[in-house]
Amino acid sequence: ATSLFNGRHLELYERPVSYQPGDPKPVKACFTILSRNHDWRSLRESMKQIEDRFNHRFNYPYVFLNDKPFTEEFINMTRSMTQAEVYYGEIPKEHWSYPEWIDQEKAKRSREEMDKNKVMYGGSESYRHMCRFESGLFFKHPLMQQFDYYWRLEPGIEYLCDINYDPFLYMKQRNIRYGWTIGIFELMNTIPTLWDSVKKFVKQHPETIPEHNSLWWVSRDNGTTYNGCHFWSNFEIADLSFYRSEQYTKFFDFLDREGGFFYERWGDAPVHSIAAALFLQKEEVHWFDDIGYLHPGWQHCPSGDAWLQNRCTCDPSDKDKTITNADWGKCSREWALLPDTPPNYRKAL
Ligand code: GDP
Ligand code: MN
Repeated sequence: ATSLFNGRHLELYERPVSYQPGDPKPVKACFTILSRNHDWRSLRESMKQIEDRFNHRFNYPYVFLNDKPFTEEFINMTRSMTQAEVYYGEIPKEHWSYPEWIDQEKAKRSREEMDKNKVMYGGSESYRHMCRFESGLFFKHPLMQQFDYYWRLEPGIEYLCDINYDPFLYMKQRNIRYGWTIGIFELMNTIPTLWDSVKKFVKQHPETIPEHNSLWWVSRDNGTTYNGCHFWSNFEIADLSFYRSEQYTKFFDFLDREGGFFYERWGDAPVHSIAAALFLQKEEVHWFDDIGYLHPGWQHCPSGDAWLQNRCTCDPSDKDKTITNADWGKCSREWALLPDTPPNYRKAL
């Protein structure tokens, strides 16, 4: 049959891929959402967005994790937002408590000190357990064992454009192991000694550093100092074999021993990002700059063809919200300056 449309229109309206809820998927993947019982209302907003923009066609399952048992209300209110399978899991105690080597009195004093100094979440104990869990433990949960890739969702986020392809498959086909959409500076008063610990680890394990990594993106002086650039981990799509690898496991265990998750307030975002920048080849890390995404505070808004074709509703030129226009978003912009095969920084560290 002859089409009335030209090729461009066909591209726009073709919807060749669609998987049903129970279907085997081309990638064993899921959404993972760490949540508290009271988060259900804003999670319904997040789920509405990701379902409308993407998942009503792809039907990837959801895994909800909580340090407390989920309430029936939470389960009903979230399950009803999707046709895809949903799983609810409680986090084992040992993944949400103090390791025996942590001095809890010292941790408490540091929380009080950071609270006094108005460090963001500086006084919060639960936020620290959350960051430690998201840094190195979530992928060990029994419900996660059936999956090879994951996409992190949070309460209160928005997807601002249609996603008409399967990002999991996109990654798998190209051997991409870490995907991000917002790059931003870290609050350095949450991680005073993180980079020192990273350097100690790298000295002990130089074999974990590939030749063409993205070190330049996180350090402009060949590894002496950390510039604070990180991928905002409230959105991330990752190959779980990266987190489950010997090198990442050793890295997390080392940082955990250093104590900074409790004596400072190390976030999972800089921890994941530094690992991705150091341990992966640059080409294994992908900026999904066609995915429009908002987490309270900042958004990434695609421009050009992608904006039009994917029915974006955000304003790429917004000065207040769009990260690539902001000083804080220098990290996003400068990713583009990194060559596909960056110079060999291995000897520098
Ligand atoms: P922010 O994005 O850094 O401001 O932190 P959020 O408050 O969004 O927390 C990050 C993620 O961890 C979200 O998915 C929260 O629902 C989840 N979270 C934070 N604190 C807790 C907690 O104490 N228990 C559980 N189960 N989830 C938490
Ligand atoms: Mn959040």
